Amino acid sequence: MRLFIAAARESGLTIGLVPTMGALHEGHGALMRCAREETDYVVATIFVNPTQFDRPEDFQKYPRNIETDLAFCDRLGVDAVLAPSAKEMYPGEVLTSVEVAGISSRLEGEFRPGHFRGVATVVAKLFNIVTADRAYFGEKDAQQLAVIQKMVADLNLPVTIVTVPTVREADGLAMSSRNQRLTPEDRRNAPALYQALCEAERLIRNGSRSAPEVRQGALTLLLRNPVIRIEYLEVVDSATFQPVEMVTGDVRIAAAVWLGDVRLIDNVFVRGA
Ligand code: AMP
Repeated sequence: MRLFIAAARESGLTIGLVPTMGALHEGHGALMRCAREETDYVVATIFVNPTQFDRPEDFQKYPRNIETDLAFCDRLGVDAVLAPSAKEMYPGEVLTSVEVAGISSRLEGEFRPGHFRGVATVVAKLFNIVTADRAYFGEKDAQQLAVIQKMVADLNLPVTIVTVPTVREADGLAMSSRNQRLTPEDRRNAPALYQALCEAERLIRNGSRSAPEVRQGALTLLLRNPVIRIEYLEVVDSATFQPVEMVTGDVRIAAAVWLGDVRLIDNVFVRGA
C-alpha cells in the first residue's frame, strides 16, 4: 500500500480513502463516487474488523463477497483496494487503542460495548497506512462519523473528513450490508424504521420542541409494527450525541431496531429552531 501511495504522491496526486467492511452497495458507491470526484487516487479498504463486533455471531454472519466487491470497486473507478486479513491488521497482541470518550458512551456505544474503540482504532490504523488527504464516511453511521471527526480533531490527524448523505432504497430503508440478511417478511417491515424517524422530524418541523413528545410520536408509529423490536430511539444533540429534553438546536433522531436476528440502525438530522 505504501508503495502505491508513494507512486501516486510522486505523480502529485491527491489521495481519497473510502473505508468499508465490504458487501458493497450503492451507499458505499456514493462514497466512492464522491472520492472519485474530489481526489485523484481513490483507495477503498475492505476489512470486516473483528475488534468492533460486540457479538461473535454478528461477525461470523456478516456478509462477505470479495470477488463481487472487487468488481464493484472496478466499476466505480477505484484505483486500489486494500483488503487485509485480520492477521495482517493485528499480527500480535494489541496493547494500544483509541478511545473517544463522551460521544462513544451513548446509543451505539451503550448497546455495543467496545464498538467505537474498535472503530476508532482501526480507522486510525487505516489513516496511518493510506495517509489520505480526504476520507469519506456515510451519515448513515452518524455517531461513528462524530467519533471519527473528534478523533481527527483531538489527535491532529492530517486528513479531511467528508460526510456523504445516507443512500436509501425506493421505500426509504437505508442501504446496509445487513439488509441482505433480512427475511422477505422482515424486509417488507424494515421501512417502518425510517418512517418513524420521519414522523419525529415532522413533529419538530410542525413546532414540537419537547423531545419526549417527539420521541413518543415516533415510538407510537414504530410500535404498531409488532415484529420490530426497538433497542433505542433517541433525540440527541447532533454534535455530542447526548440526549436533549428540548429541541433548541440541531438534533439527530437516531434509532436501532431488531428484525429477527438482524440489527438495523438509522438516523435523521433536524435543524433546530
Ligand atoms: P460499512 O461497510 O457498513 O462499515 O460502511 C462503510 C462506510 O459506508 C461507512 O462510512 C458508512 O457510513 C457508509 N455507508 C454505509 N451504508 C450507507 C448508506 N446507505 N448511505 C451512505 N453511506 C453508507
